[in-house]
Amino acid sequence: MIKAVSPQNADIAIVGAGFGGLGAAIQLDRHGFGDYVVLERSGDIGGTWSANTYPGCQCDVPSNLYSFSFARNPDWTHSYPEQPQILEYLHDCAERFGVMPKVRLNCEMLDAEWVEDERRWRIETSDGDISARVLIAAPGLLSEPRIPDIPGLDSFKGNAFHSARWDHSDDLTGKRVAVMGTGASAIQIVPRIQPQVERLYVLQRTPPWILAHNDREIGPGLKRLYKRVPAAQRLARESVYWMREGLCAGFVAFPPLLKFTELVAKMHIRRQVKDPELRRRVTPGYAMGCKRILLSDGWYPALQEPNAELVTAGVSEVREHSIVFADGTEREVDTIVFATGFSPTDPPIARRIRRRGRSSLAESWHDSMRAYLGSTVAGFPNLFFLWGPNTNLAHSSVVFMAEAQLSYVIGALESMRREGAVAVDVREDVQDAWNDTVQEKLSRTVWNTGGCASWYIDRNGDNPIMWPGFTFSFRRMTRRFEPAEHIALSPAGRASAVPAGA
Ligand code: NAP
Repeated sequence: MIKAVSPQNADIAIVGAGFGGLGAAIQLDRHGFGDYVVLERSGDIGGTWSANTYPGCQCDVPSNLYSFSFARNPDWTHSYPEQPQILEYLHDCAERFGVMPKVRLNCEMLDAEWVEDERRWRIETSDGDISARVLIAAPGLLSEPRIPDIPGLDSFKGNAFHSARWDHSDDLTGKRVAVMGTGASAIQIVPRIQPQVERLYVLQRTPPWILAHNDREIGPGLKRLYKRVPAAQRLARESVYWMREGLCAGFVAFPPLLKFTELVAKMHIRRQVKDPELRRRVTPGYAMGCKRILLSDGWYPALQEPNAELVTAGVSEVREHSIVFADGTEREVDTIVFATGFSPTDPPIARRIRRRGRSSLAESWHDSMRAYLGSTVAGFPNLFFLWGPNTNLAHSSVVFMAEAQLSYVIGALESMRREGAVAVDVREDVQDAWNDTVQEKLSRTVWNTGGCASWYIDRNGDNPIMWPGFTFSFRRMTRRFEPAEHIALSPAGRASAVPAGA
């Protein structure tokens, strides 16, 4: 690990050293844009895979797909990668591709202002100010933990923490623990801690749809084959990729296709849950796919263990040593784990990105987050998002999406270099047209029509999160940077605002 040193001016500043930021750094180096700095607020690289260290943390996208296309990993031990291995993989990539010397740890971007006269971003960090021509924001979609505002929570005398800030100093052995939430994080945590704790209360507001996990160990023979014959792993990756693309039709084009998967999930409940009343309480009342489909073999068995209880009455209050529920019952607890998710539709970074004397990105996004190709925002020159609006997936790997966005970013940088421009700004009409198409497609998807409340939908009822299509369509759109869709800015002091490529 490198020693933290103060950041210096650079041509390009990347915010975040997770999959997105590291992928950006590697691609910039490969394309001859080596003058960059990576600003990372935490003390380690890895992003979500460094922040989430809760028991059982594992990715629900198959290992062979969950890696950079240019750095396949023959060492995965399971068909679905576990958090420590993903973090190790990212460390390995950062070292192998030589980006670590340009990573500044414990360096949080506090403010970024586009200064039109200078054609540069002035960036204030927790470790000094810098200036950069290009800002690549890769803060991660799910990086801001959300803890609900519950009456009395401040008075709680036990320990309480969010799943993405796991308190490893709290030994849960023999304790009374409440886990709030039944999403992707909770269903991994609960089966792991249930055997350890004295009493486990699982606080469910909405049951999730769950399928069998079928995680398998990857044997030494297969690992050897992947090492010796990389084409074999490429083939495995391609097969998983195309199988997963097949699922997309159910989410996007024809949600009734998911009815069959719903039946499979109901059979999973029947097989694992004996008590009809519990079966009823864990069966969702909305269309499958509306929320993320979860994978678990251990969730229902854990709920039926004698020390576990599924509580479906809402929480009305927290007291010094207990939680009080809407049905008037009260349960004493030592620790509360908030597996209550994140705030992706209100990203704090948007409040920190501004145009001088004009509005912040958060103000521009007041109605809903909008960008072009999830990457650029009209009026914010040389700002590139990775995993910006409408780039999240339910069926495949978001690493694929970030790599696709990086083709567009590199294309923009190369176009500027070729044309002698210093900045590009996407045309507002291009951005609007793209968003109209995306939102129109989304209106028919299961995420918008499935009858659930999810983190995909913002407070105005828009869906600024999901990509409504195949990932190869997104890749096709981002493969080339189209100068005509942008306004190019020439160096400060010269005539500006000419259509790029004109
Ligand atoms: P999440 O899916 O947003 O789930 C949050 C849970 O907390 C939901 O069950 C929600 O209930 C509940 N909740 C929130 N506020 C509540 C309140 N005031 N009272 C009671 N319950 C409340 O969050 P997550 O589980 O952390 O997962 C977020 C996303 O991260 C996933 O969808 C996935 O994309 C990613 N993730 C992936 C993996 C993986 O790859 N295996 C693992 C973890 C996370 P409602 O459903 O009623 O809102």
